[in-house]
Amino acid sequence: MHTLPCGRKRPSHSPKTNWRKILSEYLKSEGHRATGPRDKVAEVAFQQPSHFEIRTLVEEVQRRFPEISPATVYRSVKTLCDAGLLHETLQNHTGVTLYEVHEDGHHDHVVCIDCGEIFEFHDEGLENAQNKAVKSLSFDAESHKHVIYAHCTFKK
Ligand SMILES: [Zn+2]
Ligand SMILES: [Zn+2]
Repeated sequence: MHTLPCGRKRPSHSPKTNWRKILSEYLKSEGHRATGPRDKVAEVAFQQPSHFEIRTLVEEVQRRFPEISPATVYRSVKTLCDAGLLHETLQNHTGVTLYEVHEDGHHDHVVCIDCGEIFEFHDEGLENAQNKAVKSLSFDAESHKHVIYAHCTFKK
């Protein structure tokens, strides 16, 4: 379970614990009320692996709460994105969009083409080089998504 086919350890993540507070503050500021189904979707979403696709979230929500429709899951995910709790983070090796819990601090991704696992990395040198490159084009970089699709060369 915690080891990948290549023998590498599966990346771990710590679940976001303060989402209820952030969500309720966002809803209040937007004049929305809390809804039970949305809270249930959020609860399941924050228990997902760190990078997940919406299809598996729908399946898991419907397994636990059969009364919640896929449309409600999609709508709830949009609200969670608007609240800054989730974001569309990258496409996996088969082109499927993955969502990720929004944490402080920036990271980029390596996608293993062999097993599909997502790894995170941060390289200050790379970040600086990217910023320098866009500055030379007279831009001030606001954000970027840097995804590398790679074959695993890990030796057990
Ligand atoms: Zn980066
Ligand atoms: Zn990530």
